[in-house]
Amino acid sequence: MARCPNCKVRTQPVDYEATRLHMCGQCGGYWVDPLALKRILHCREQQWPEPVKQKFMEMAEQSDTKRKIMCLRCGVIMHKEQFKDWQEIVIDRCGQCQAIWLDPGELEKIQIYWEYAQDHPDQEYLDQVAKKATLDLEWQKRKTYLDDTIRSAKRVKYAMFFGPRATTAALLGFFSRLSKL
Ligand SMILES: [Zn+2]
Ligand SMILES: [Zn+2]
Repeated sequence: MARCPNCKVRTQPVDYEATRLHMCGQCGGYWVDPLALKRILHCREQQWPEPVKQKFMEMAEQSDTKRKIMCLRCGVIMHKEQFKDWQEIVIDRCGQCQAIWLDPGELEKIQIYWEYAQDHPDQEYLDQVAKKATLDLEWQKRKTYLDDTIRSAKRVKYAMFFGPRATTAALLGFFSRLSKL
């Protein structure tokens, strides 16, 4: 199996929240494939107390995000990328086998961020949704107005069959509608 890019020792298979990962027994880093990471994030099994969360965050803080890491399966330098556009989380991904290397504490940090994002949905996104709802309402109002105006114009056309008095009444209705524009 794969080796740890930090310690060069063989990583061991472990079950993490019912998902199989490969952990380095020396540094505590993980090899994880994208699908397994997704599964861990969605199951939200871990409930850490605040001090434990803090410890993982500090641990992840210490990892050197500039250092180049080689995928020891494929023998290529891995790409650095931000996880979910979160500047604070830089992960290493192999362009060939897609495996992700997570330094000690990074997996837990990703989980902590993920759960926070789930519990506090992005305000900017909510604002966009609210804006769209307002526009939709505005559009609906205008559409109703136009439909009513067209109906009113049709009424004038039919009123013409019933003589001048009916036509005048229908025309007045039509113009009073237009004046509200
Ligand atoms: Zn290691
Ligand atoms: Zn690879």
